[in-house]
Amino acid sequence: MLVVRDNMVLTTLSLQHTTAQTPETGILRVNEIFFSLQGETSRVGLPTVFVRLTGCPLRCSYCDTEYAFYNGESMSISSILEKVSSYGAHNVTVTGGEPLAQKKCLILLRLLCDAGYSVSLETSGAQNISKVDVRVVKILDVKTPGSGEAKKNYWPNLEYLTRQDELKFVLCDEVDYQWAIETIREYRLERICPILFSPVYSKLDPTLLATWVLRDRLRVRVQIQLHKLLWGEGPGR
Ligand code: SF4
Repeated sequence: MLVVRDNMVLTTLSLQHTTAQTPETGILRVNEIFFSLQGETSRVGLPTVFVRLTGCPLRCSYCDTEYAFYNGESMSISSILEKVSSYGAHNVTVTGGEPLAQKKCLILLRLLCDAGYSVSLETSGAQNISKVDVRVVKILDVKTPGSGEAKKNYWPNLEYLTRQDELKFVLCDEVDYQWAIETIREYRLERICPILFSPVYSKLDPTLLATWVLRDRLRVRVQIQLHKLLWGEGPGR
């Protein structure tokens, strides 16, 4: 089907992102699927469909998605693709919880790419990312001491990051900030991909973090979670 608008011929998104020939390939536990603006990363502000998978083996001190640890419904991957398609969007983010805790997430990611979406994955950094489809933009957390989960960082993952990916430090305080600087130096993270510094919501003052980053001439991007500024905390945003 073609749509004519302003003397331009546009192919509808439903044709670009077809799911008609997608085979049934497994079941995933899904906490929620919703349409919103991407609140973080270099994709901030882009209309995006979020697929939030249930479950996470970590327990970060600042976790803002604890509701995703246990709840949700079992969905076939083809049902998930149909639901994603219904929003008519181009960008899709697979998140959690920890999406890679469910092995069939890898299939979902591949099929989303095959369907023509621009796909990003938000992962804790504690799961092996080596089998993630290379077309997926990986947003990989580096867990700081303040998270309480720093020992879970799986450093071999660094080998599988490219310039299209992003490393994210969620910072609780100045101790985390200094630790992040040392970690960037130790692993030479700037040579791998862009780095994000994100203050823990309602804990570390973003203005203070911005001041530190400017003072220290860091080559990082300070980010504030846009969706929380717009809508506050809670599911579905
Ligand atoms: S990895 Fe993410 S979802 Fe899991 S506990 Fe930490 S912040 Fe929460």
